[in-house]
Amino acid sequence: MQFASRLDNVETSAIRELFKLLGTPGIISFAGGFPDSAMFDVKGLKEAANRALDQEAGGALQYGATEGYEPLRKQLSAFMKTKGVEVDPSGLIVTTGSQQALDLLGKTMISPGDKVIVEGPTFLATIQCFRLYGAHLISAPVDANGVKTDELEKLIAEHKPKFVYLIPTFGNPSGAMLSLERRKKVLEMAVKYQTLIVEDDPYGDLYFGEAPPPSILSLSQSVPGSREFIAHCGSLSKVLSPGLRIGWMIAPAELLAKATMCKQFSDAHTSTFAQATAAQYLQSGRMPATLAHVRKVYGERAQAMGAALQRELGDAISFTQPAGGLFFWARLTGANGKLADANVLAQRAIAQLVAFVPGAPFFAENPDVATLRLSFATANVEKIEEGIARLGKAL
Ligand code: PMP
Repeated sequence: MQFASRLDNVETSAIRELFKLLGTPGIISFAGGFPDSAMFDVKGLKEAANRALDQEAGGALQYGATEGYEPLRKQLSAFMKTKGVEVDPSGLIVTTGSQQALDLLGKTMISPGDKVIVEGPTFLATIQCFRLYGAHLISAPVDANGVKTDELEKLIAEHKPKFVYLIPTFGNPSGAMLSLERRKKVLEMAVKYQTLIVEDDPYGDLYFGEAPPPSILSLSQSVPGSREFIAHCGSLSKVLSPGLRIGWMIAPAELLAKATMCKQFSDAHTSTFAQATAAQYLQSGRMPATLAHVRKVYGERAQAMGAALQRELGDAISFTQPAGGLFFWARLTGANGKLADANVLAQRAIAQLVAFVPGAPFFAENPDVATLRLSFATANVEKIEEGIARLGKAL
């Protein structure tokens, strides 16, 4: 069949082959990007769904506005306020997961050949989505404090990108948290170079100790002229339920209007039933307890994984203990002649019945084959310890 030429730019995910092996019996997987289903507040969501149907079945089961179900937009506006962001319900649109917000940004902003700066490494689906629209992706390096703003500034000045895409808080896969100082630098650059900054923030609520610095969107409120250059994507996926498919985008009115138009042609609107359920859930006041629960459980797992990696792999691996999110991002050091290619290790690990994702596919440019991503989300502490011991053996 003759497919559209835009598909020529995109390979199916290199890690898909690996995922096929995850069904092997007895395997402990750190490969996925899923939250733990055992963490979903089923009772609260059931009650919310019932209330949505009892109170307004006509609204919850009918077609709805493309921008989103009004009661949910109000709840999301209130939710953002708890995170220091003042946004009118009309200043956000509800999207089918934040993934759709990324797609809408691609659709509205990227013409074939346009340059877009992303972090190296960054979210794989973003790389593929933006490439589908013909983006020429340029990769800005990341360290434990997030994207290196000095390097980012050089790249912006040189390439004059259409926009910059960042996951500043507990990035996938980097796990890194952009420091407050660098967040402020990003805002300065947005104004100085008149460049749109996309802040993808599905993990910001998932912190284990102290709260992270305010989002770039929140900080933009005190940097004159900067807010018009910020698009912010949020999601209920990682803290409440990815199956609900509730995300949102806050952006300048002009961009929001174009994105809404594109959404109309794509899915008309996000499931009204899911939106009404999410609205009821947020209104019920259960969210703070749910957040406290996921923070605690994932925090314990992250702790266990960090300790096990130290114990079992020692100086053969380097990493920064993540302060939130779902991922460890690590690098094989090759110390004492040990293996430094994560692709080879991934194969050996499968033979030892443990899985992770090699890091190379997460780079839009200059892949680092020594890197790997380990999720601590779905295995309990005991499984994490056993799995990392197996990884030690594989190495
Ligand atoms: N952005 C990032 C950085 C992610 O890791 C994910 C989920 N893996 C998404 C966006 C999309 O999430 P959702 O569509 O479920 O909101």
